[in-house]
Amino acid sequence: LFVDSDLSATASLTIDGAQAHYLINVMRVKAGDAIKLFDDISGEYAARVVATGRRDLSLAIESKLRPREPVPDLWLCAAPIKRARYDSMAEKACELGVARFVPVATARAVVDKIKPERLRARMIEAAEQCERTALPALDDLTKLDALLTGWPAARILFFADERGGANFADALAAHSGPAAILIGPEGGFTDEENAAIRACSAAVPISLGPRILRAETAAIASIAVWMAHAGD
Ligand code: SAM
Repeated sequence: LFVDSDLSATASLTIDGAQAHYLINVMRVKAGDAIKLFDDISGEYAARVVATGRRDLSLAIESKLRPREPVPDLWLCAAPIKRARYDSMAEKACELGVARFVPVATARAVVDKIKPERLRARMIEAAEQCERTALPALDDLTKLDALLTGWPAARILFFADERGGANFADALAAHSGPAAILIGPEGGFTDEENAAIRACSAAVPISLGPRILRAETAAIASIAVWMAHAGD
């Protein structure tokens, strides 16, 4: 269970709201039950339910189980796509271990808004499910040109381009270290956007094969390949 406060300095705490509803009414936790908590700051802790009320429950922290995990240095920069698919992309990116999720506004996007609290909730659920002790950072929606202008030179930008690019495995062998993967929207990038991305000095265009993948498939597949190569 994710707790949004530093647990290293906490001996007891009260859970309320949706988390309490889930624990009390869905998981049916009772006084004495053990629960694992993580805070995305100091790590994971063993806690015990002290008492449950109608809308809240109190917990006692018993011991620290693990420090916050080291996170592979990969960002996913992805244009918003239809909501359920974007939620799913964020969920899988979290499970696979990305450090940061950057929503990118592009010209052909069918969707031009994101719901950060919804995306964050999906990533928290995913982290809880896969026992991550760290959450991906979630950026505000960033325009593609601003992203490219402010791009950190030391971070390779693997640009997933269905029109062609280097074999991803070959590109990974040639470029190790901090990285990001850039994925376009349902309609892909415009010619101007494609040229602007390729003009970024950190950009390495890559192909994920001859088939045109859905954006979320391209994101998930490329993260998995990067993680397999990085050994993380
Ligand atoms: N129309 C489909 C959809 O609704 O999802 C396909 C969208 S595809 C144009 C979206 C993005 O996925 C592209 O901008 C690109 O970043 C990535 N992509 C898809 N297939 C790819 C491939 N074979 N190689 C590299 N990137 C790919």
